[in-house]
Amino acid sequence: MRRLAPIELLLAALCLWAGWYHTPAGALVRTAGAWIFRTHSTARPLLAYYGAGVYQPHAAPPPLLTAPVPPAQALGYGAWATAEHLGTPAALSARIKALAARLDGVDEAAMLALFCGEEPARYALTRAQDEDGSPRLEDLARALPPRSADCIAQASQALAQAGAYALAWPLPESIRITSPFGMREHPVLGIRRLHAGVDLGTAVGTPVRATAAGVVRRASSDGVNGRILVLDHGRGVTTMYCHNDELLVQDGEHVRRGQVISYSGNTGRSSGPHLHYQLDLGGQAVDPLRYRAGHPRISSAGAAD
Ligand SMILES: [Zn+2]
Repeated sequence: MRRLAPIELLLAALCLWAGWYHTPAGALVRTAGAWIFRTHSTARPLLAYYGAGVYQPHAAPPPLLTAPVPPAQALGYGAWATAEHLGTPAALSARIKALAARLDGVDEAAMLALFCGEEPARYALTRAQDEDGSPRLEDLARALPPRSADCIAQASQALAQAGAYALAWPLPESIRITSPFGMREHPVLGIRRLHAGVDLGTAVGTPVRATAAGVVRRASSDGVNGRILVLDHGRGVTTMYCHNDELLVQDGEHVRRGQVISYSGNTGRSSGPHLHYQLDLGGQAVDPLRYRAGHPRISSAGAAD
């Protein structure tokens, strides 16, 4: 038997290493090994990649609304939903308005001041304005030290929730909800999973309206969502409209609040004509009805996805 050349040994070692660290089988073996020997494993990210699509429901839904949200108080409601102990939505709204008046009318800076203090917010605003005319929270946050990470995260959450409170509705409110947000038996697949939006049972061809001004991030079609639109409203707020019959806007287009953006339909994986409307805050799906008081919650059998 001839001896293995060093280069062959090296290649064999390389194959073993690649198999161990860069294949799903290797990841499974490492996970099993870590489980048996109770040791830490770095296999999780790879396994998560191959088993993608595991949704976690939102950790802390906002408090229940007792009255409709006046549009002018949306920022106050966003702060209240993030830190209820700070005060009532009306009181917080007044505080944010006063802060904004002292911070060049920049709402982002006012929200930052509420959670991180007025001095840091003013400093961040001065720094950010040197670079750009209209600072976003990300621009302001860059000027603050790492220890501010927690209060910046709260300000960002409050702004996103304020955006959610300010949203309009994509269809007339009289159109019934045929499947609400939450865990459910999937109407087509028959398995239990999170329904990440609300289904509104409506005839094909019903005009669908943008729930806030924004930019079209996606206008396309696939086998699951059918003809789909994704709007980016800024501050971490996006809305999604699925199963449309016809899209009226294109990728990158700016839309106004209330603008007709599509005609509803029955495309993709759907059990009948309806609109799947979804609200994401910071990339996480939330129940849009938690941000609307007194919305008719008529939920019964009907078209869903
Ligand atoms: Zn749906």
